[in-house]
This record gives sequence, C-alpha cells and structure tokens, in this order.
Amino acid sequence: MFIKTLRESRELIVYKLLNSRMKLNSKNKSQFLQLLKGYEGEKEFNSLLKDLTGDFLIINDVLLNKNNSLFQIDTQLISQNTIYLFDVKNYEGDFYIKEDRWYSIATGKEIQNPLTQLSRCSSLFRRYLQDLGINNFLVKEILIFINPEFTLYEAPRNQPIVLPTQLNRFLKMLESTTSQLGDNHYKLAEQITSDHIKVNPFSQVPDYEYEQLKKGVTCKLCYSFMVPFNIKELICKNCGRAEALEYAILRNVKEFSMLFPDIKITTKIIHEWCKVDVSMKTIRRILVKNLTRKYHGRYSYYTFPSEEKGNN
Ligand SMILES: [Zn+2]
Repeated sequence: MFIKTLRESRELIVYKLLNSRMKLNSKNKSQFLQLLKGYEGEKEFNSLLKDLTGDFLIINDVLLNKNNSLFQIDTQLISQNTIYLFDVKNYEGDFYIKEDRWYSIATGKEIQNPLTQLSRCSSLFRRYLQDLGINNFLVKEILIFINPEFTLYEAPRNQPIVLPTQLNRFLKMLESTTSQLGDNHYKLAEQITSDHIKVNPFSQVPDYEYEQLKKGVTCKLCYSFMVPFNIKELICKNCGRAEALEYAILRNVKEFSMLFPDIKITTKIIHEWCKVDVSMKTIRRILVKNLTRKYHGRYSYYTFPSEEKGNN
C-alpha cells in the first residue's frame, strides 16, 4: 500500500515548463535530463512495487532532518520487521569499481560513489528512529539499478546492490517474506510523512524572467504549444492531444503561478501568458468560475482556492 505516492518534484516540473518556454543552456539542459531520467527510474521501480502482493507500506521521496543534516530517501518499504531504504539509479552503460571508487567506462571519469551517499542516509535514518524510541526494526539500505542497459564490472558481492538482472529475484524474495502490519507500522509511516520537509533547499532551477519566456498554452503530455482545434478545444501541434479550452487554460494558469508565485493572476496577464486566440472575456469567465476573485474592477486578481502550488 502506498502511503506517499511518487510525484514529480517541483524542480522537475519547473524544468519541464522552462524547457519549452526558453532555451536552456547546456549545463541546465543536462541537469534537466538527469532529473528526468532519475524520475523515470523511480517511476519504473514504483510500477514494480505496485504489483507486489503482501502487507507493506511504501513511502516515496521523503526529505528528513536529523540534527540539521538533511537526507532524502527515494523509496521506503516498511514490512513487519524490516524497513528497506531504496536508492534507485537509472544509470545506463558500463561502469566499474576500483578500490571503492566508481568510474564510467564511456567517459573514463570517476562518478560519485552511490553507496557512500546511501550509507550516510541509512545511518541518519537509524538515528531518527532511535530518537522516536523505535528500535525493533532492521533497517536495510539497498541500491537498485533499474536500467537493463546498466553493467557494473568488479561489483563486490557483499554490497547492498541489486543489479537489473537480479531485480526480479529480489522482488520475489520480498514477496515471499511473511509480513503482517499493525497499528505501530501505520503510526510510524504517518510520523515519517509528517516529518517530511516540503521545500527542498537543495533544489535549483535556472534563473528566468517573465519577459523572456515564450507565451502560449503548452500541452499536458509533451509541453509543446497548442493551437485552437475548434471553438471549445485546443490541440497539441506535436502529439495531437486535444483538450477542452477551459482545462488547458486553467492548467496553464497553475503553471504560471508555479513559475511566478509573486505575480498576481489577472485577466490581462493570463490573456498574455496563454496567448491563444481567445478573448479577454473568455479568460475572465474561466478565472471567475475556477478561482477566487479578490476585489473588483481594475484591481481585481485571482487566487487558487487552496494556495497549493504543487509542492510535494
Ligand atoms: Zn503534446
């Protein structure tokens, strides 16, 4: 059972929005692709966990603080006696380990040892549990390599690593462990999710300004721009997805507010932001219907009923 499902981080969403509305420099572009790949890997792993039969609690993307040290756990799985901390890597290509250092064969360059990061995480997590007075769980950290195109040479056998060719067997092993959960497991899962820090101070997005971004309505699926299809629908020029005008505009208002939380949502600015062949009157009607209007007349602006801006 998923207690906290996987969602795209605010950082990744902002990158997706910016990628279609401005030209990212090569550093930002590679950061974006890395985030995207990481997310795809986690998504793939979650889809495998989803099919597991058995009594488990699954918590995704949790950022915790222990004595001012922040640590992030991709996926936690709580079973009756064991808490698994999974770090999912979507690396592709050939890698090797030499004297505890990891190298990519394609580039010949050393990469950050993912085990070091994971063991830091699990030791902080153990202390976090201790402070809660919880000491009846075994905590096991496991590095999951999800991409079938990944090979690791000289991989030591005694490390907590699951390679793509071992993944099915590992999941079967999990499934075969008897696990019965009680109130204490649910309480712990609740505690962890309530301790989760929503705004990640490490997340970094490129600098951008309103004026420099390309205006228009972008597609929900591929973030390309949409054009009018008929009087009530827009259609994506790239993937052909059609969407009701009202939904498409509203989605783009949400995106606007995520990119520019400090700019007030007004009919004028949304008309300009969406830059689609629709009258100010239509935009106003959509805003009035779905958002909360503050003041009237010239100074009116709109806010979302719950000021949730998509943080998770
Ligand atoms: Zn599209």
